[in-house]
Amino acid sequence: MSITVTTKADQWTKCISSNGTIRAVAVSAIEASNILSDRHKLTGDGQHALSECVVGALLLASYCKGEEKINLNIQGSGWIKQSVIDANANGDIRGYVVPREPAERVIPPEIGPWGTGLLSVLRTKQDEKQPYIGTVPILTGYLGKDLTFYWVQSEQVPTAVGIFVQADQGVVTHAEGVLVQALPGATDADLEFIENQLKRLGKHIGSTTERETPTSLLAYLLQNQSFSILEQTPISFRCSCSIERVKRSISLIGNKDIEEMIEEGKAEVTCDFCAESYTLSQSDLRELLSS
Ligand SMILES: [Zn+2]
Repeated sequence: MSITVTTKADQWTKCISSNGTIRAVAVSAIEASNILSDRHKLTGDGQHALSECVVGALLLASYCKGEEKINLNIQGSGWIKQSVIDANANGDIRGYVVPREPAERVIPPEIGPWGTGLLSVLRTKQDEKQPYIGTVPILTGYLGKDLTFYWVQSEQVPTAVGIFVQADQGVVTHAEGVLVQALPGATDADLEFIENQLKRLGKHIGSTTERETPTSLLAYLLQNQSFSILEQTPISFRCSCSIERVKRSISLIGNKDIEEMIEEGKAEVTCDFCAESYTLSQSDLRELLSS
């Protein structure tokens, strides 16, 4: 059992240019951003930061294989204390952010809204028990740029990441992102072209109210270059929590604590990742005690 909402149009699309020098992935995650921010009752900066993380985590997850999954964990001094987002190769995403009050934010001059701090990506492979963790400092305070730095550090491939989020009266209207990589054979001119196109893409997305597909974003990005689509993956909000899991975790905390919960009349548990709330009655708790 798990909580799943399949989106209608969110997806990522991967492509390679016909001359083999540019690899790119574009993601559109408007519905997933709205589902998550609704669940966590976030609007304003919190919703914006969560949506940026959703796009960033999906860009990272698009490079996962098989049962591989990633966790994007950011601790910053700006608008968010922490963000914790899980995503996997199947396009499943869940997670949360912990917003910070404006008065408590510490954002140095010329640094973006994330402030300073650390960005970690934990990558878990199916056949390896030990996850791989890559951590970089947050240097620019803009998630797209800091993810670019992470990618260059961890993959050693020239990379550019762009993340574009907009919301209107509590509804996310744009949550798109692209990750572009220069492969062997790419020239300096190719790299410059990509950089310029990324800047133009941000303006292009901001100026349109029509929903762009990842394929149309890639076409805009690569302009006159032809490319082949390698993969298209639909995105779902999915959390693995369930009443069975909650019961299992409560059964591990010891009889004394369970007896206290029985005296209180019930136990309420809320999942951090999806904000689903579970209530165990006295009889549920007695059952756990006797098992
Ligand atoms: Zn959950």
